[in-house]
Amino acid sequence: MMEALAVGLLGVVILAAWLVPKWRLRRAVSRPLPPQHVAILARNVMQYSGMDDVQRQQLGRMVQHFLHQKKFVGCAGLELTDEMRVTIAGQACLLLLGRIGGHEKPVSYPTLEMVLVYPGAFLAPRKQIDVSGVVTEERQDLLGESWGDGRVILSWDHVRRGHTANAPGHNVVLHEFAHQLDSESGNTNGAPYLGSSERYRSWSEVLSRDYANLRHDAMWGRQGVLDHYGATNPAEFFAVATESFFEQPHQLAARHPALYDEFLKYYRIDPRQWQSTPPAPVEEPPQYGVVYGQWR
Ligand SMILES: [Zn+2]
Repeated sequence: MMEALAVGLLGVVILAAWLVPKWRLRRAVSRPLPPQHVAILARNVMQYSGMDDVQRQQLGRMVQHFLHQKKFVGCAGLELTDEMRVTIAGQACLLLLGRIGGHEKPVSYPTLEMVLVYPGAFLAPRKQIDVSGVVTEERQDLLGESWGDGRVILSWDHVRRGHTANAPGHNVVLHEFAHQLDSESGNTNGAPYLGSSERYRSWSEVLSRDYANLRHDAMWGRQGVLDHYGATNPAEFFAVATESFFEQPHQLAARHPALYDEFLKYYRIDPRQWQSTPPAPVEEPPQYGVVYGQWR
């Protein structure tokens, strides 16, 4: 009798341990975003002012979910504030708005566990391998980093600067979270999970060509819409192009129409709807006809 009671009690405890977090999450997501958090999104997520009410509500639910699920850690003495958490969550969830925004239960970055925030640029060890294979280790100043083990690291100083009109096309949160999406396919190689071989074929063709063109532009010091940092490798190209897609959509669509179309299919949202600024006239992109990179 006592044994049956103990087993029953154990079952209740296990069930409660499983149900309570789900219930807490559901309660958090179903609550409207507090007005002070809405004000932070309006201040620090550039696209928010152009959104309709449905999109704002969807982003709000996703931010609630993100804040509930992900751990934020202040580093090097940084004391975290709501301004920091909500700004980072809002910008990170922007990438998911078209992909999962309308779902009953938003799932934001399932493999991400924590966001570490430094007050400014942080030093990180980097291995360099020269042409003869000699490995040297040095420390580099970084603004952000994305790891496949569930961590994103950010410099708050650069997050804060990234959403202003003074830094068009640059946003360290969009950049690092694009790497998180990229890594969901198992490799961080510039091709996120696309679902079908046909989609990979089209992605590879378009992005390989534009990556090759960017490498060429970088070599000759010719500045276009995309930052030359994207010429580093295909993964950086995807992250840099994601920054432009959300921050300078008109310019990117005019200069790289096929790339823009691939991103429309992937992100399932058109950021041009949030910016009323008409595109500046641009010249036709030069065609070099050489493909250096292979995507997959
Ligand atoms: Zn990067």
